[in-house]
Amino acid sequence: MEPETMSTEQQFILERADLGTLIVALREAGYATFGPVERDRAIVYEEIESVDELPVGWTEEQEGGTYRLKRRADEAVFGFTVGPHSWKKYLFPPEQRLFRARKVGGRIEFENETTAPRKMAFIGVRSCELAAIAVQDKVFSGGPFLDSVYGTRRANTFIVAVNCGLAAKTCFCESMNTGPRATGGFDLSLTEVVRGDRHYFVVETGSEAGRAILAPLPHRAASDKERAASMAATQRARKQMGRKLDTKGLKELLERNLEHPQWDKIADRCLSCANCTMVCPTCFCSTVEDVTDLTGDHAERWRKWDSCFTIGFSYIVGGSIRSSVKSRYRQWLTHKLSTWHDQFDTSGCVGCGRCITWCPVAIDLTREVEVIRKTGRRVPPPDTEIS
Ligand code: SF4
Ligand code: SF4
Repeated sequence: MEPETMSTEQQFILERADLGTLIVALREAGYATFGPVERDRAIVYEEIESVDELPVGWTEEQEGGTYRLKRRADEAVFGFTVGPHSWKKYLFPPEQRLFRARKVGGRIEFENETTAPRKMAFIGVRSCELAAIAVQDKVFSGGPFLDSVYGTRRANTFIVAVNCGLAAKTCFCESMNTGPRATGGFDLSLTEVVRGDRHYFVVETGSEAGRAILAPLPHRAASDKERAASMAATQRARKQMGRKLDTKGLKELLERNLEHPQWDKIADRCLSCANCTMVCPTCFCSTVEDVTDLTGDHAERWRKWDSCFTIGFSYIVGGSIRSSVKSRYRQWLTHKLSTWHDQFDTSGCVGCGRCITWCPVAIDLTREVEVIRKTGRRVPPPDTEIS
């Protein structure tokens, strides 16, 4: 659905006991519903059919290179932040067939991949994740070349945002101005409030489709006290934010420091494993592979997620342009925080902290930038050349 840019002023109450009616209504409206579930000791996103699959009573601890699920003292449904998955796996699938080709007699017949659009409802989209979807909208649909796979999926997506009532130690959405409260880009937004024996959701509508889904559900207007509780929840998350990133002049700072010795220090630790790019909700690099069957009569072309950390990603005519780990990490970070602005007029980072948590050696972009800011060049070098 096409969301409005700002949420409405009006807020409603959906009791915890009625949360299941939202999922039922979405499914009756023809949406496949996706949401967070507890799986293999992490909160991940999967297709769900009922409210009972949501990870009630779980939270997590995150730090550089560390993620651990813990039980909460209450029965909160969304009492955690973000895990290793992001919604990009549904809008920009990790593996996607683009076309098939068949040998028929002496001819080759091509068949483009045309799957019927599936209506999808994402339940539990955090504010930073809405920002990440907005970034990928620009990447895949904002320029002269439109990605039809992404565009079709996105046009058929209904978003139920959830405002964060807590922040992880790796979160810095406030620095990136992307959270913790969703201000637009959703069809419905929920703020969960658990206080004593009261457990309810403060609901805002952000689109006509959101209003239509909410209309038949058991709900009522929120009182001033309930609205205040919703605001207090996101204020609490704001105060808990575990990381900060000073974005002032950051694009220019990185442009001036392409030869800073910190890149070598990072390269000594970086395993070039690509985890940071796989978990990042805005990274969009892909590769294309052609496969055939053993007869050679049938071939397919697939698009698969790739990463600027793989040596093959920059392979051009006999060699890789970025053959060192240093050059690959620098490419990633300077693209995210600097040249992304030139390409897409926005930062490529939304402050979700996933790359910090899921880096096996706990490389932390906020700390690396801090070092460069404290010790780097403040004026442009005489000759700036990317090596
Ligand atoms: S660069 Fe890291 S913190 Fe920024 S959006 Fe990507 S995963 Fe999240
Ligand atoms: S920064 Fe960390 S997650 Fe990213 S490639 Fe290097 S070791 Fe892997």
